[in-house]
Amino acid sequence: MTIFEKIIARQIPAQIVAESDEWIAFHDISAQAPVHVLIVPKRVIPRVGEAHSMDGGVLGALLIASQQVAKKLGVFETGYRLVINNGRDAGETVPHLHVHLLGGRELGWPPG
Ligand code: 5GP
Repeated sequence: MTIFEKIIARQIPAQIVAESDEWIAFHDISAQAPVHVLIVPKRVIPRVGEAHSMDGGVLGALLIASQQVAKKLGVFETGYRLVINNGRDAGETVPHLHVHLLGGRELGWPPG
């Protein structure tokens, strides 16, 4: 089981922000911005590079879910960034696809 599957199964705790049948959103344990939430599909897709066309619905649901999360945490108007790390050079550490939602401060560009 990935660490995120354990959070979904309530085997380990997390600060959950929102949830649906398809996804769960919770605060990152090592926040890199005042708002840093992970939006995670409940059905495991290891990484976006291994997603298939049949995963398109859930991938879209993660992006639409980000609107709700951003509104709930007060960054919808000020702005926020969505990040998906894929593979070693991108810094992916958990092999369970997730969208990072970052906001609450000005975010530098280009990212590191
Ligand atoms: P990645 O580096 O794979 O894109 O992102 C994985 C993220 O998961 C990291 O930002 C890391 O801080 C977060 N993370 C790892 N373990 C846990 C955990 O047990 N709980 C929570 N809430 N976040 C975690």
